Amino acid sequence: MIPHGDRGKPLQAVLFDVGNTLLHLDYEWLAGLAQALGAGASPDDVGRADARVRRRGWPEAEEDDRPTAFFPGYFGAVGMEIGLSPADALAFAASAEREHLRDQRGIWRSAAPHAAETLQAIAAQGLRLGVVSNSDGRVEGQLALAGLRASFSVVIDSHIAGVEKPDPRIFHAALGALSVAPQAALYVGDLWAVDVLGAHGAGMDGVLYDRWGAYPEIGAERIRGLRELLLRIRPD
Ligand SMILES: [Mg+2]
Repeated sequence: MIPHGDRGKPLQAVLFDVGNTLLHLDYEWLAGLAQALGAGASPDDVGRADARVRRRGWPEAEEDDRPTAFFPGYFGAVGMEIGLSPADALAFAASAEREHLRDQRGIWRSAAPHAAETLQAIAAQGLRLGVVSNSDGRVEGQLALAGLRASFSVVIDSHIAGVEKPDPRIFHAALGALSVAPQAALYVGDLWAVDVLGAHGAGMDGVLYDRWGAYPEIGAERIRGLRELLLRIRPD
């Protein structure tokens, strides 16, 4: 029996976010782009800037209903955060969007450190694995290209499901496919409001994956790397 938080129900499944949890932004590529635009940003600088933007949110692009409308707002904010001028930040965002659409892996294409071995170790304990991702219909293929797809019994992509996190229905879609109750599942993601509070809203425990230490004051469960999950779910 694997203890599971305060809920007293044995853990049966672990569900994951993808963007910046299993597959991280390609910070090397983005740092190269930033340098081409005149900002002296290292890959880690871009990662920390990205984490700060994700924590505080970013401006919505108005009067723009393209499926990728968030790119100017999100990557524009990251560009400003690493010191680009507003005009160069928009150029940074436009190049990031082109790269995301050009490469079938997208731009969230760097597998998280120790992702494959951690997933295998969790599965070896008899737990089911699933994915719940706010994505554009490509997430299952991107997991396959990263060599991670085979670990998961279910992959839910919001574009296909027609509902996004933090709506509890998208979490329940994955749990239903696994025949696992929310109280017996754990969700892991990098966005506090969307992933952790979304999981709570669906009746699940949530763990915040805070790779860059953007949430130092949050009292909830927080990991800095995926391997820390193995301590969380290790049987007694
Ligand atoms: Mg994410």
